Amino acid sequence: MGAGSAAASPLWTPDALARATGGTLTGPPAGTIGGISIDTRTLQPGDVFFAIRGENSDGHAYVGTAQQRGAALSVVERGRLGEMPEGAGLLAVDDVLGALEAAGRAARARTYARIIGVTGSVGKTTTKEALALALGADGPTHASAASYNNHWGVPLSLARMPEASAYGVFELGMNHPGEITPLVAMVRPHVAIVTTIEPVHIAQFDSVEAIADAKAEIFTGVEPGGAAVLNRDNPHFERLAAAARAAGIATIIGFGEAEGADARLSCVKLKPDMSTAIADIMGESVSFKVGLPGRHIVQNALAVLAAAKLAGADLCLAALALSALGPPPGRGVRTVLAVKGGEALLIDESYNANTASMRAALAVLGTTPATGRGRRIAVLGDMLELGSAGEAMHRDLAPAAACADLVFCAGPLMRALWEALPESRRGAWAPDSAALLPLVAERLRGGDVIMVKGSNGSRMGPLVRALIERF
Ligand code: ATP
Ligand code: MG
Repeated sequence: MGAGSAAASPLWTPDALARATGGTLTGPPAGTIGGISIDTRTLQPGDVFFAIRGENSDGHAYVGTAQQRGAALSVVERGRLGEMPEGAGLLAVDDVLGALEAAGRAARARTYARIIGVTGSVGKTTTKEALALALGADGPTHASAASYNNHWGVPLSLARMPEASAYGVFELGMNHPGEITPLVAMVRPHVAIVTTIEPVHIAQFDSVEAIADAKAEIFTGVEPGGAAVLNRDNPHFERLAAAARAAGIATIIGFGEAEGADARLSCVKLKPDMSTAIADIMGESVSFKVGLPGRHIVQNALAVLAAAKLAGADLCLAALALSALGPPPGRGVRTVLAVKGGEALLIDESYNANTASMRAALAVLGTTPATGRGRRIAVLGDMLELGSAGEAMHRDLAPAAACADLVFCAGPLMRALWEALPESRRGAWAPDSAALLPLVAERLRGGDVIMVKGSNGSRMGPLVRALIERF
């Protein structure tokens, strides 16, 4: 994927893939390879299918399906060749995930693309998508799909990078220490972005500092002469900068509003559905419009513009491209509902939630006007993986939730916020999102703006879908 993807020439030839993975081709000769898949449900004709063995499923069971769907080739374990269907084109390897990693490393080694790696507690995908737009305006750009940021997502995304790419953008994620080091060793970015450090997955860490240190692993894989782009407004900036220096990175760029930021916002206008801004990006002044609302998105945009400049892209083109930024699924997608008495605007933020993204989404709700007799309504599900501080973190949302005229809460942790709200702004509380749905639905009326957010596990997505179906 990615704007301006270099799709004209084949992604891989079977021989090149065999060389990269140390595998042996068997069965009928395959044609050229157009893509890489690890899931037959989304496999496209001409893709090579890597039969990865996961915790719950074994790709080897789907080689027949891959063949029926037009796979060019399936990559399987040598020891399993006897189980494979007749007539399937195969590449036999010792270890399929290892082969995907080898393909990823080979794709990285053969390209002259400038590579950007993005990590951070929140905002990785939004930043990656914005980078794909900004760099795609300058040259063929390849970017990871969705949030493919883990031990299979990163090598898969790398292996999908066309050789002729001018830019490559990769998301790197983690939920425990030591996870980013092997990922960044494959990606070898020229520019590493850390969007921000927040108490996300804090249950798996001793402290927020420990989270910063785990994100700082990204610096270990930065190419010689490369750069780090860090959030100047985040309290952990100095800690990250020190880690970057210790990893031998000389170019450390701070972005934000703070004095001393190298990519610094000088003026911003936050509107209900987008923002406009003026910034100084390492000595170059640029005006831009970013097509998604919220101060947090403008912050991400500063990191994008700094990285684009460091990667040698045209800053003006990059800035112009940001106006086309749209919401990834569940991160601000807007739908108009036909409710009692008129139309209501639904803002779907159900993809996930932590304290930072919850506050960001509430702030956007605060800038979105209701119309007529409508109200601003927040429908909030539990933020998970917060450990023992979870309840307090929910209660502490009360001031941020003051932008809403009515707050509906689902889940045991959200009970703490519910109890901290003044009576006049309480919509309803329910133990889960399914029980909350009818309580929300019956209260909606024309002119309302409804923002729905919660952790994945809080199942606010089904609530959003049910509202769209009903209205
Ligand atoms: P994941 O770890 O699940 O892949 P991510 O880091 O890729 O998450 P996004 O998907 O970009 O994060 O964004 C998640 C949520 O956080 C969205 O609601 C988005 O609007 C919000 N968000 C994006 N950038 C920021 C930011 N800089 N600060 C706070 N919230 C942000
Ligand atoms: Mg993501």
